[in-house]
Amino acid sequence: MQSLVTDADVSCVYCHSLNSRPLYDTVSIAGDRFTLNKCHSCNCCFLLPKPTRRQMDAAYDASYFGQGESKFSGWIEKVLDHFRFQRARTVMRYVKSPANVLDIGCGNGQFLQRLIQNDYNAYGLELPSKSAERASRVSGLNLKIGQLCEEDYETDFFDAVTMWHVIEHLSTPQNTLRIIEKILKPRGYLMISLPNIDSLQSRLFRGKWLHLDPPRHLFFFGALDLIKIMQAFGLEIVTIKYFSLEQNPFGMQQSILNCMLRKREVLFEVLKGNRLYAREYSGLSILFQKIFCIMTFPLFAMLSVVEAYLKKGGTMEMVFRKVRC
Ligand SMILES: [Zn+2]
Repeated sequence: MQSLVTDADVSCVYCHSLNSRPLYDTVSIAGDRFTLNKCHSCNCCFLLPKPTRRQMDAAYDASYFGQGESKFSGWIEKVLDHFRFQRARTVMRYVKSPANVLDIGCGNGQFLQRLIQNDYNAYGLELPSKSAERASRVSGLNLKIGQLCEEDYETDFFDAVTMWHVIEHLSTPQNTLRIIEKILKPRGYLMISLPNIDSLQSRLFRGKWLHLDPPRHLFFFGALDLIKIMQAFGLEIVTIKYFSLEQNPFGMQQSILNCMLRKREVLFEVLKGNRLYAREYSGLSILFQKIFCIMTFPLFAMLSVVEAYLKKGGTMEMVFRKVRC
């Protein structure tokens, strides 16, 4: 009998090679099982079986974007505002206003709002969602709701393009990088942040690692492999940061909770208002999880400094510059 599995079903999501090996298994919040595979050709790590349309639609339902006026509850949004401001400062360090900046996957637009306040021309792109609705209320923001399309922006238009924890969600990253290279001005910057598959926390927690986030995160690269890939698009590395107080301590904490509990990301989902997902966990259990995270935060913040020193931080922030004219 002929196999129903095609080459496309098992090929590397980045280079389409059929030559890969399984690393470890993981289970999504919907209970779907996947294996993380590593490509022998380009070192891309990706999920098999490839997530189906149905699984992806379920993964990006309303609960992913948060239910209310903001994605998280009030005090968490205040903390996140601080990190959005830091990202805006990163842009301001490299590109002086007035300048054109595009944020792909701009969420609620708060990061771009800070740039608008500092006289930048801000462009945002977000999928149709509650987040896009929030971004549409940001005054002065040029927002497109939908996918990145070649004809949307002029060639050599942007001084900087940013993708904060977005690239790993892309189903056709080559296409996105090709368009970015085209719309960036010569010497313009691409700034991204993404999970680090070579991190200590990734290697320690494997399938239970928070930042694996199956099935939303479609592929992973280590820093050196990603630098090679960007070079092919005419983008040279300027700097890499392996420390993130926003992402890395909580990456360890939630991964530990994932190892202790039957379901993954229980606390993270509760913090987004998705109490339905955590319905089998009592209020007391959730309270203990919160207390664990608050009490141990200084410890994990220190461990994140060590991770970063070893260039093994849970996430990476990378700045690239367009070299082609
Ligand atoms: Zn590959």
